[in-house]
Amino acid sequence: MSALNFSARLINWQGQHGRHDLPWQKTRDAYRIWLAEIMLQQTQVSTVIPYYTRFLERFPTVDALAQAPVDAVLELWAGLGYYARARNLHRCAQVIVADYAGQFPKEPQALAQLPGIGRSTAAAISAFAFGQRAAILDGNVKRVLARCFGIEGFPGSAQTEKKMWSLAESLLPARRIEVYTQGLMDLGSTLCARRKPFCAACPMYAICIARHTGRQAELPMVKAKRVLPERETTLLLLTDGKRVLLERRPPAGIWGGLLTLPECGLAGPAEFALHHGCRLLDTHALPPLRHSFTHFRLTIQTLLCQVEVSASLVSEAGWQWLERAQIETAALPTPIRFLLREMAQDYGEK
Ligand code: SF4
Repeated sequence: MSALNFSARLINWQGQHGRHDLPWQKTRDAYRIWLAEIMLQQTQVSTVIPYYTRFLERFPTVDALAQAPVDAVLELWAGLGYYARARNLHRCAQVIVADYAGQFPKEPQALAQLPGIGRSTAAAISAFAFGQRAAILDGNVKRVLARCFGIEGFPGSAQTEKKMWSLAESLLPARRIEVYTQGLMDLGSTLCARRKPFCAACPMYAICIARHTGRQAELPMVKAKRVLPERETTLLLLTDGKRVLLERRPPAGIWGGLLTLPECGLAGPAEFALHHGCRLLDTHALPPLRHSFTHFRLTIQTLLCQVEVSASLVSEAGWQWLERAQIETAALPTPIRFLLREMAQDYGEK
């Protein structure tokens, strides 16, 4: 898709269907445009309008704002949220008065150095107030670009964001930058909604990759979740119906110092039971249990071993025969307590 195709469609659409009556449109006054852009950073248009109007009544010029006590600015801001914006607004007004003789600089690079003005806001101010060709890239614009151009990757990652900035810059039209910029904002906040975009009415309908491939819900991509490695273990649940044989884990490592079911070694359950003074009567597999640790996911296969205790129950060092009544109070890892509860319930029902 050519840049011209994209920008021409957007400019035409903005002219016919975009927003034209917002209070900060139809002005070239950088002070008013800056005020609106800061208020719009994290807030919807309908909420901003009454605040914007009150602000201009109270502080009609950047000088008036710079001279006001910060508390008066915060008072008027109350309810808009993100109060750092109000403090930065006041500081920025003072810098404009002190360092720029009350005139906002035209270049987006200079604007972006001022308090509270990031790269995208600087571009919007310089486009609307001074007709400068500069690219905006806020969350809504990222969504439009990711869908329209089928951009993979999470837009918050440095790599994808860099790609999007270059794309946004390559799309800038030679003329009518104000209409184009407003068009991007309008498209992102009206038709190309996060959920259920109105593709049928969109000027990009014929060229949008997400629309063609049915990937509107997938793009822009969300932050990739870390894929944890999978591990598996088989544990032995040795019981005579009243007690369960548990092993205390070493102090360091997974489940350090807790009582757990022993792992089934190569010798197998019969040999294991014999070694612990028991005779194996019956075995059956319990349903597998999944448990997530910070660094891996564990599938626990459990072999329920019904035993007859043939030797006197002397607990060896590191081993303990746990009574059913102790299941709720013993130092057990969560999945092991869960398994023992299930087993106790089964035996209780028999
Ligand atoms: S066609 Fe749909 S997904 Fe593509 S830019 Fe338009 S509204 Fe967004």
